[in-house]
Amino acid sequence: MPDAPDRAPHATSTAESGSFCTARCACGWRGPARRARSQARTDAERHLADAAAGPQPDTGSGRPLE
Ligand SMILES: [Zn+2]
Repeated sequence: MPDAPDRAPHATSTAESGSFCTARCACGWRGPARRARSQARTDAERHLADAAAGPQPDTGSGRPLE
């Protein structure tokens, strides 16, 4: 089983649960349950983009709405 010595690699995948699909990442991130796999993959891509942009704290206000 692989360890993460310095940094957690961001490797996303999607997991289906019933009629929902959830994006997951090797770093422990998990997206919301989506009814469409394409939407879950979009969540994963956005997570990768956020990870590439650097660590950011969760914003308690001013969350972007879709
Ligand atoms: Zn990640």
